[in-house]
Amino acid sequence: MNAEIIAVGSELLTPARIDTNSLWLTARLNELGVEVLRKTIVGDDRNLLAQAVASALDRVPLLLITGGLGPTEDDVTREAVAQALRRRLLFSEEILAGIEERFRRLGRTMAPNNRRQAFLLEGAMPLPNPHGTAPGQWIDLPSGIVMLLPGPPRELEPMFTNHCLPLLRERLPQAFIRTRFFRVAGMGESDLDNRIAPIYRAYSNPVTTILAAEGDVQIHLRARAASEQEAEALVEELGAKILAELGDRVYSTDGSPLEAVIGRELASRGETLAVAESCTAGMLGARITEVPGSSAWFAGGYIVYGTAMKTRLLGVDPALVAQHGVVSEAVAVAMAESARDRTGATYALSITGEAGPEPSTPGIEPGTVWIGLATPGSASARLYRFPAGRERVRRWAVQNALYQLWRSLLESRAG
Ligand code: AMP
Ligand code: MG
Repeated sequence: MNAEIIAVGSELLTPARIDTNSLWLTARLNELGVEVLRKTIVGDDRNLLAQAVASALDRVPLLLITGGLGPTEDDVTREAVAQALRRRLLFSEEILAGIEERFRRLGRTMAPNNRRQAFLLEGAMPLPNPHGTAPGQWIDLPSGIVMLLPGPPRELEPMFTNHCLPLLRERLPQAFIRTRFFRVAGMGESDLDNRIAPIYRAYSNPVTTILAAEGDVQIHLRARAASEQEAEALVEELGAKILAELGDRVYSTDGSPLEAVIGRELASRGETLAVAESCTAGMLGARITEVPGSSAWFAGGYIVYGTAMKTRLLGVDPALVAQHGVVSEAVAVAMAESARDRTGATYALSITGEAGPEPSTPGIEPGTVWIGLATPGSASARLYRFPAGRERVRRWAVQNALYQLWRSLLESRAG
């Protein structure tokens, strides 16, 4: 089954507030095998909201609306849904009594405005709201279901869990969602898509989504079926074809980031890693140590930002720097070799580059980065030219350093 969500509130159209309800609701719906096809945010405008409701119901049988159930004039969800469904709003003495009782319990008097919250759509079932005044509403239509839910998450979440979920479980056909999450490095988003689009385009179920971040592309597969086994078989079939096409470009099939995958490999070999960072100044070490238990395979490293520190702390020969420049293959190799020697680690990665935005090293374009790798048998460095943007250059450098090590580990595994 497919659903849409409408979040109501003018505040959600400002930079000050984000619609988190629809994320929470999407997670719950997915657990039921319901797919959310569209989310809409509408300000507190009765006509716009009525239009959004009517058009959503033209597309899907399940519509969840959050917000706009408050007592004030700007809360128009009840009226807008009544307009869209061409149903009357009926005053409920019972709901009013409940609201009055709540005010009495809190030692307050009810404002006349709160009467607005006692109107139910014709044919609606009220959904109790122990955490606020406005009840939710559940409306069965010939062609589907509409739910009116409160905006505050602490009211919405228990209402949905306690009242909507059990009803949905009864009404929905059994459906299961199974996912696969592959991560790929060393390949751009469009190269990757060129290779796998011919494979996944043949499938409408699973649905394939490709997301790219700096030097890391994620492939998500979502299959939906009437049984768990069927959904699993669907993601398995497409997943296996994608894996066969991409081979070891896929570094992770369980969503783990590159540093965690490297950590598992190093730990299983009893090997260790050290780093020497210039332009990333600790970002590589920080990413590595985000992995719990990294102390088992990460020795540590050097932040050698200034040229003098490369000489003093790592012993890089000043003559080498003078001859080749600080952003050079020779210096990257020397940094990696020295970090490996001085820490006793099996491998060492080094990064030296120009992050920008303004050039600070004569003759070196911002985005130029040398990444060195010292292994038990060799030391080498690779040149990268990353797209502009200081933060981006630094993040790309970290990701590619990790990837350079990962390739080397794969090669030594094969060899
Ligand atoms: P309302 O039911 O429209 O009066 O909403 C009351 C309050 O609930 C708002 O001021 C927000 O703080 C919160 N709220 C409303 N809609 C959302 C949403 N979609 N996501 C998160 N919080 C919300
Ligand atoms: Mg509101």
